[in-house]
Amino acid sequence: MQSLRIDLHSHSTYSDGVLTPAALIERASNNRVTMLALTDHDEVGGLAEAAAAAREAGIGFVPGVEVSVTWAGLTVHVIGLGIEPRNAPLTHGLAGIRLSRGLRAVRIAQQLDAAGIPNSLAGASRLAGDAAVIGRGHFARFLVEQGQAADAKTAFKKYLGMGKCGYVAHQWVSLGQAIAWIRGAGGHAVLAHPDRYRLAPLQMHALLDEFKQHGGQALELYGGRRANPLPMLRLATHFGFSLSAGSDFHAAAQGPADLGDIPPFPDGARTLWQDWEVLRSAA
Ligand code: AMP
Ligand code: MN
Ligand code: MN
Ligand code: MN
Repeated sequence: MQSLRIDLHSHSTYSDGVLTPAALIERASNNRVTMLALTDHDEVGGLAEAAAAAREAGIGFVPGVEVSVTWAGLTVHVIGLGIEPRNAPLTHGLAGIRLSRGLRAVRIAQQLDAAGIPNSLAGASRLAGDAAVIGRGHFARFLVEQGQAADAKTAFKKYLGMGKCGYVAHQWVSLGQAIAWIRGAGGHAVLAHPDRYRLAPLQMHALLDEFKQHGGQALELYGGRRANPLPMLRLATHFGFSLSAGSDFHAAAQGPADLGDIPPFPDGARTLWQDWEVLRSAA
């Protein structure tokens, strides 16, 4: 098993992370990360700031994005790595997703209102700031602030998760569309945190089959240093995917992993970055 300090999945204040892109790079540097990708939800606005800070800090930087997708009625996330941030079809497509996010936020707030929790749209907007479009993560922080939940996880469990009073079913973009935008912008398409969708084996195979057919290239290892990488390695080998890895860092003390904490890589695993010149020198 190799132990790497590479992290290809993270969030900033441009989506539902709490650190600015520059502060994120600083934390990565303190955590001895050699290569970081910023992958905000449906947004590339933080990439320039992060790239400049990474240059300054001497960290390798991969421009990325995490695209919200609806597949078979479920929300799944596809990460684009090494994208050209100014690519027009990609940026226009993401702008469309953010617009629909904004409309969903209004509906979430209406439902929370009906459940006796007023002013959540204003609260979530304040927490999102000017740069970000609102996600459930901002509503979760608002609910914690209001004393309605002890932490973000509890806020999802009580209010924002599927079937709860603040949950709004939403149609994101198709799997094929997301992969086409990513590949069209010169990026690699990675299926984010596949084990978090809680799919039965047959469904997982159907998703991976379709992901492959549309041009998907890698599966993400996720879950921090103690996660078991072998089930994902088995699937990747079966379908001919390489492996990527990321912490999905949003904030200190939220989620299973800090920046740079990724599962150990099994010897012989084909990594997404083994062919990337820039990464090989850093790894
Ligand atoms: P959205 O894309 O706005 O629907 O929000 C999805 C985001 O909510 C994810 O990227 C996570 O940051 C966060 N999230 C989802 N489920 C949970 C949970 N159970 N606990 C904490 N955060 C969660
Ligand atoms: Mn998030
Ligand atoms: Mn995700
Ligand atoms: Mn993420």
